[in-house]
Amino acid sequence: MRYEVLIGGPMDVNCYVLTDGATGAAAVIDPGFFDERLRRIAAGGRVEMILLTHGHFDHMAGAEELRRATGAPILAMETERALLADAKANASRLFFGRDIALDLDRGLSDGETLRLGETVLTVMASPGHTAGGCCYLTKDAAFTGDTLMAYTVGRSDLATGDEVALLESVRKLAQLPGDPDVCGGHGPVTKFSAEKERNPFLRYFLA
Ligand SMILES: [Zn+2]
Repeated sequence: MRYEVLIGGPMDVNCYVLTDGATGAAAVIDPGFFDERLRRIAAGGRVEMILLTHGHFDHMAGAEELRRATGAPILAMETERALLADAKANASRLFFGRDIALDLDRGLSDGETLRLGETVLTVMASPGHTAGGCCYLTKDAAFTGDTLMAYTVGRSDLATGDEVALLESVRKLAQLPGDPDVCGGHGPVTKFSAEKERNPFLRYFLA
């Protein structure tokens, strides 16, 4: 599996485009915008799923257009369904000045695996930034949304946020085996080894 990062939207979100090396099947994580780059990827005809780490508008504002352009289903945790459909809770009204309510095609559950060609993605529930947030894990990369980002963690003061739950989610991530890439929702891609050295939240759990 290889991935590329597209940065866009008003909050500079990281949208990840995953491509399975064996089959060319693609998945898009957190399309917070829909621009020429995503239009071109959609036109390639290989996008099989649209995955959301959580329901905040800056991670999903382009999802509806991408779904229309690809026919691919939008998936997120079932526990995030209500927030996605609520313009106040998903912060689109407050930060975007426009109401976005998004319908999921299917709700995911913790521990579920998704197949993208020969690539296996494991869904790991990571409540805290929002109640229904999750990470998508492969052998080599963890797509962590706003739960874990380069040398920091996400905020927990927005709707359904919970600081204790967030730290518990970060603790679970700190226990992942190996040294996968940390592909957060904003900021640069890092490695778990670097996070364990420099991220105060991870260091806390390793002390
Ligand atoms: Zn967020």
